[in-house]
Amino acid sequence: MDLTSAEKEKLMISVLNDKCDLCGCCVGVCPADALELTKLELKILPLRCTNCAKCVWSCPLEALVFNSDGVMV
Ligand code: SF4
Ligand code: SF4
Repeated sequence: MDLTSAEKEKLMISVLNDKCDLCGCCVGVCPADALELTKLELKILPLRCTNCAKCVWSCPLEALVFNSDGVMV
């Protein structure tokens, strides 16, 4: 799914795909069912994400970050 610029602005969390090992820990903690894990990547679904940040704290590899840390989506 391609994101519109408005959806990208709304989303405050990004996945660092080079750090993520697709373990799936974050998927289980998301209360909004906004994380989609495939064999190749983890995606955040911006229309579902409430920016609660539970996934950020759950990742053992620090592969989820706040966009305010300077990461572009
Ligand atoms: S910030 Fe919250 S709602 Fe968004 S993907 Fe992470 S756990 Fe789910
Ligand atoms: S917990 Fe971290 S390493 Fe595991 S799938 Fe989520 S973002 Fe990737």
